[in-house]
Amino acid sequence: MAFDKKLLDIVACPVCKGKLEYDKAAQQLICKADKLAYPITDGIPVLLENRALPLNEAV
Ligand SMILES: [Zn+2]
Repeated sequence: MAFDKKLLDIVACPVCKGKLEYDKAAQQLICKADKLAYPITDGIPVLLENRALPLNEAV
């Protein structure tokens, strides 16, 4: 199931409440401010701080 990009208007980073960016290749949502990546499971973004992965500086 694909992530619905319309969700980007609704979802926000649980840490800073900021906007998230969709990383289609990695299927994750990225907060650039916190340098965290939230996984997307079956089209549903998992917006939990303890599930977020630190963003690689190279991305
Ligand atoms: Zn954030």
